[in-house]
Amino acid sequence: MTTEKMHREVVIIGTGPAGLTAAIYTARANLSPLVIDANDAERQLIPGGQLMITTEVENYPGFAGGIQGPELMEQFRQQALRFGTEILEANIERVDLSARPFKLYTREGHEVEAETLIIASGASAKWLGIPGEAKVPAGLGGNGVSACATCDGPLPAFRNKRLVVVGGGDTAMEEATFLTRYAARVYVVHRRGQLRASKIMQDKALHNPKIEFIWNTEVREILGTMEDGVTGVLLYNNKTDEESVFPCDGVFIAIGHKPNTELFKGQLEMDETGYLKTAGHSMATNVPGVFAAGDVQDSFYRQAVTAAGSGCMAAIDAERFLDSLPVPMPTGEEVTMEGEVVTADHKKIIMPDGEVVSNKVEAEVSAAD
Ligand SMILES: Cc1cc2nc3c(=O)[nH]c(=O)nc-3n(C[C@H](O)[C@H](O)[C@H](O)COP(=O)(O)OP(=O)(O)OC[C@H]3O[C@@H](n4cnc5c(N)ncnc54)[C@H](O)[C@@H]3O)c2cc1C
Repeated sequence: MTTEKMHREVVIIGTGPAGLTAAIYTARANLSPLVIDANDAERQLIPGGQLMITTEVENYPGFAGGIQGPELMEQFRQQALRFGTEILEANIERVDLSARPFKLYTREGHEVEAETLIIASGASAKWLGIPGEAKVPAGLGGNGVSACATCDGPLPAFRNKRLVVVGGGDTAMEEATFLTRYAARVYVVHRRGQLRASKIMQDKALHNPKIEFIWNTEVREILGTMEDGVTGVLLYNNKTDEESVFPCDGVFIAIGHKPNTELFKGQLEMDETGYLKTAGHSMATNVPGVFAAGDVQDSFYRQAVTAAGSGCMAAIDAERFLDSLPVPMPTGEEVTMEGEVVTADHKKIIMPDGEVVSNKVEAEVSAAD
């Protein structure tokens, strides 16, 4: 395979809300961003990101009547293209972040050099892999099966209905508790006889009168049709070895999320579950010039609007970096593209050759003297 070499000021991984928002901002700043994304069924990657597997999005500001997920992502894409974003359809398989320019290698044979990198590779909801659960159009995903209660719980399809939540950890307790605001009743199906969730989350769910627990039970299939949606689940009790059909109108799979960060293991700091660590007051990772935005660095909010917001922040951070302005790092220090480090207390600058100088302007210094 011949290698196609490319060099860009800004490279963005991912065309979800975070990646395309970063593209809109950096394109408008004349930085000609290159955005890389591709289909990969095995890794659950789809250009456009997670909203491509949902139907109605009711909570994205600016769309008073709601909008279909894929249609919203097409709007993002067109807006990014309008300002000169270049989109490369390719699967990134390896990155080298040890020195700038960073190097990205794709399955299709590209070698992309990046002066700054914005990682917006998102996260994937974990699925059970059972019949009826698969994503649209193969299964009932987006049609009574969801992996996001905050996103889909308020939809008419789930209001005043019997809903099943699958899982026994914090995610499941949180989703079940949230769904009781809308559902007639919520049934938590858990394959063990006790929960894995933290005590505070367990207590909230166990004392909620709208939640019932179905213990030692696995969901083997989600029943229904694309026309009528979900009609029930096939349950298997692993203590009694019995199968039964449980009627319900919706199923929320709540067994956690997996950030798409395999590529960056050993190169970027992550938390214990693999989410990238960012500075908090900027989207900088621990490697100067590498920023992260959206669900890949956010295990808490996980919404399209927060992903888009952090994409905007990462873009502005990259612009500052390329302008040789200091960008806050997770350590509290600020770092410039040239390697100058402003100490966390803002009093000193450590130059690339190790020389330490005062960060006070001369007028301030003489006034203080
Ligand atoms: C079923 C469901 C319904 C939802 N509904 C709503 C809703 O109604 N409202 C709401 O606000 N939020 C909703 N969300 C959450 C929302 O989709 C996410 O918060 C948002 O998509 C995160 O955006 P992101 O850009 O960080 O990542 P993602 O949308 O996950 O996009 C990441 C992109 O990176 C690409 N990528 C990853 N790795 C690579 C690689 N190695 N090479 C190339 N490309 C790569 C992927 O293909 C993908 O396109 C829903 C989520 C789900 C699962």
